[in-house]
Amino acid sequence: MEGSLGAPTRHVIPWQDESWYDAAALETELRRVYDICHGCRRCFNLCDSFPILFDAIDESPNEAVDDLSAGQLKAVVDACTLCDMCFMTKCPYVPPHSFDLDFPHLMLRSRAVENRKGQTPFIDTQLAEMDRNGRLGSVAAGLANWATREGNSLTRPAIEAVAGIDRRAHLPPFLETPLVNRAAGMVQPPNPDGPAFGRRAVVYAGCHDNFNDDTPGLALIKVLAHNGVQVRIEHPDCCGMPKFENGDLPGVASAAERISAFFAPLVEAGWDVVPLTTSCALMLKFEWPLIAPDNAAVKRLSEHTFDVSEYVVALSKQTGLVPIAPMTKSIAVHFACHARAQNMGPKAMEMLRLIPEAKPALTERCSGHGGKWGIFKQNFDRAVKVGRPAARNLTKDQPDLIVSECPLAGPHLKQVIASSGGEAPARIGHPIEVLAKAYGL
Ligand code: SF4
Ligand code: SF4
Ligand code: SF4
Repeated sequence: MEGSLGAPTRHVIPWQDESWYDAAALETELRRVYDICHGCRRCFNLCDSFPILFDAIDESPNEAVDDLSAGQLKAVVDACTLCDMCFMTKCPYVPPHSFDLDFPHLMLRSRAVENRKGQTPFIDTQLAEMDRNGRLGSVAAGLANWATREGNSLTRPAIEAVAGIDRRAHLPPFLETPLVNRAAGMVQPPNPDGPAFGRRAVVYAGCHDNFNDDTPGLALIKVLAHNGVQVRIEHPDCCGMPKFENGDLPGVASAAERISAFFAPLVEAGWDVVPLTTSCALMLKFEWPLIAPDNAAVKRLSEHTFDVSEYVVALSKQTGLVPIAPMTKSIAVHFACHARAQNMGPKAMEMLRLIPEAKPALTERCSGHGGKWGIFKQNFDRAVKVGRPAARNLTKDQPDLIVSECPLAGPHLKQVIASSGGEAPARIGHPIEVLAKAYGL
């Protein structure tokens, strides 16, 4: 049967079940799924995993998945950025279809098996310690930013040799003062005349928002307070997305437990939770409940979490917003994969359409960055290649502004644009920054 009539669902991730880690069972499942993909091939242009798979099959003696070596099976996994696009946008065979195919979560299982065997590369495990790295980076921001700057011919080749991070890859600079440490002086009281007065939102600053780039956070708290929302900003811990990429599911489960416990009293008191980074929102809303299905706080949190653009659009419908000044700008909007994966539609487009005279236009392609995946030497060229269609589409009409909800996609897309001979804008920031600007905040 082609496709399923039932609404797509995802299974709970059975990371506590020993049989899930059985290497032979995993290989059987990889071959079963790859064979279905071989017959389907819809995803041929989504990322590098599928071309690697299809080329390997086509070049094999019998043009069959059975011919593939274990190394070839793994090469497909290694090229996956866990962007979720094959599940979300292409695959007709996701559950409840009898093929029961969830390609990204199969890639995740494969990483989890490696992780269990201690085969996750050391540098991946260290980069996933986002809070520790962020705190250290902030303490020594001057030195860290000098050392990690692109073009530093002294340090970047050494970092490449030791850590495998491509010398050309953009690495986010550190803030001297993390966002939450500045928040007390930054958060304005809610505008009593704002239409959303009485609403309360706790902004969850992800690691990047807290330690690397506070611009989206500052824009959001201003927009919300201007509209009457009582705001507080918190960074209890990293959401665990980098550990998820490593297949470290016990690590993610631990983050889910701690962070959901932190937010639980706020949720019970009526606060909405708004993660600044779209990947964090994806974790809180969708991945954590599949990893900790019996945790009531995780479930409650998932029901009260809203992506930034989703939240502003919801306010516009539920309470209305303070009138926004016209802004005659064309805005190219990168629809980040992890925003798409939240199954809420292009909320950034909806939000920007609230600005009179603004002309947003959507680009629905992955930037290719894939979390920390794209910075490694073996992946950087592929990350640029995967990002080219997105960069081309974003720049084709020479927009006044380019935005992305993914904080890593923005700088990466700038690199892709520049490497294609285009003129990269000074910044590809979050769409909320444009709304703040339209408000004159
Ligand atoms: S999750 Fe993304 S990167 Fe991985 S196979 Fe699917 S489309 Fe490709
Ligand atoms: S993931 Fe689904 S849609 Fe994509 S190639 Fe495989 S079977 Fe086809
Ligand atoms: S670049 Fe951004 S949107 Fe694309 S996979 Fe990565 S996190 Fe998701």
